Amino acid sequence: MVGSGALNSKMILSQQALRNGFLNMSADNTAIHEFVHLIDKADGEVDGIPEYLIPKSLVEPWIKEMHKTIREIRMGESDIREYAGTNEAEFFAVVSEYFFKKPALLQEDHPKLYRMLDHIYGGAEES
Ligand SMILES: [Zn+2]
Repeated sequence: MVGSGALNSKMILSQQALRNGFLNMSADNTAIHEFVHLIDKADGEVDGIPEYLIPKSLVEPWIKEMHKTIREIRMGESDIREYAGTNEAEFFAVVSEYFFKKPALLQEDHPKLYRMLDHIYGGAEES
């Protein structure tokens, strides 16, 4: 979980969830998930738009791609975990887990999403 109040900017993980996330071979990872919520929250809003990381020119395309993919998830037309369809914040957290744990699969199934996440998380040379 991500804290608020005195625990603002902190995250609390169960050791078991932390271990399982890195041991299992699925696309899930609780530590990555919660950490991404913190990154998302750094600009004051947990809205799936990490304003400190995302190049300005990518904000519009990111929102578009995010909403398009959320629609697909809600219609059951995506391999991305259903929970990502909850809202933008959960979408960003779940696809980030996917990005870090199964990059090759994400690149193959969702090339556009992959390219954008690659940009957000460090492939900044062409921003
Ligand atoms: Zn979450």
